[in-house]
Amino acid sequence: MKIQEYVSLANFTTWKVGGPAEWFAEPTTIHEIKYLINWAKSQQINCQIIGAGSNLLINDAILPGLTICLKKFQGSAINSNTGIVEANSGEPLPTLSRRVAKAGLHGLEWAVGIPGTVGGAAFMNAGAQGNCTSDILQSIQAISLKGGDEFKLSQKELNYSYRKSRLQQEEFLVLSVRFKLEAGHDKHSLNKVTTQNLQQRLNSQPYDLPSCGSVFRNPKDNKAGQLIESLGLKGFRIGGAEISKVHANFIVNSNDATANDISQLILVIQEKVKQSYGILLLPEVKKLGF
Ligand SMILES: Cc1cc2nc3c(=O)[nH]c(=O)nc-3n(C[C@H](O)[C@H](O)[C@H](O)COP(=O)(O)OP(=O)(O)OC[C@H]3O[C@@H](n4cnc5c(N)ncnc54)[C@H](O)[C@@H]3O)c2cc1C
Repeated sequence: MKIQEYVSLANFTTWKVGGPAEWFAEPTTIHEIKYLINWAKSQQINCQIIGAGSNLLINDAILPGLTICLKKFQGSAINSNTGIVEANSGEPLPTLSRRVAKAGLHGLEWAVGIPGTVGGAAFMNAGAQGNCTSDILQSIQAISLKGGDEFKLSQKELNYSYRKSRLQQEEFLVLSVRFKLEAGHDKHSLNKVTTQNLQQRLNSQPYDLPSCGSVFRNPKDNKAGQLIESLGLKGFRIGGAEISKVHANFIVNSNDATANDISQLILVIQEKVKQSYGILLLPEVKKLGF
């Protein structure tokens, strides 16, 4: 594993924006992850974690410190009798969703269209179609970015709610996640439902252009996309960033957008929705380097 200097993070986010990381590494083992955390400590620099970069707006400027990308820390162990699944944090959610369906395990069919990692899903409490990660997560194995100590946290200890977890308040790196799924289901039906779920999303969301999925959290009793669409904002753009014509809660990078274009567009949407409805839309996407 190399620790590289000044690596463009635009290649590591689904929005395809972001400036260079001062230091960057892609570990493939726990040993390498621990080495990187100790290295950052010895250099007295910050560490930040990225998974698949599918919920991240990274600033255009240099991102100081060490960025650890966990996309290559993959692998999972699936027990088709007990329904227990242990997945490394870099395992892609769509891959895991397909693999567990093939093993006859029910509970992850909704995740097939979410292009994040298992660690990112645990951090964000990712969800779809009324399901979310915390419904099936039993525990995580994590490591402190400050102290370097390793520990386990149960689902209860992670204080999950809608797209929120305790992990968002702490400086922990999620190493692996233990899921409990329902064993003994018909593999053919599970595969069919999983494929249908993916197709439904491909039909209703802009998968053909770089995006970060839904930009805003849904406010209580409302849908962010409907509020934005009702103001006629579909197709509205700043620089290369555009409110998707397919789904108004998506901002797509339609022409070399910068993080600044996207940030400005987020502010404009917030202002217009606040003026018309008195509701402040809160971003679901996480920001790095702002
Ligand atoms: C087309 C599209 C559709 C989407 N649809 C959905 C959807 O239906 N539902 C949904 O919930 N989301 C959706 N998303 C958003 C996104 O895929 C999820 O939030 C996903 O869980 C993010 O995972 P990630 O690995 O990409 O995390 P990243 O974007 O890389 O990181 C997000 C946050 O998690 C932290 N993080 C990531 N991995 C770790 C780790 N191992 N340890 C500690 N912290 C970590 C990062 O520091 C960052 O703060 C969609 C995105 C796209 C592009």
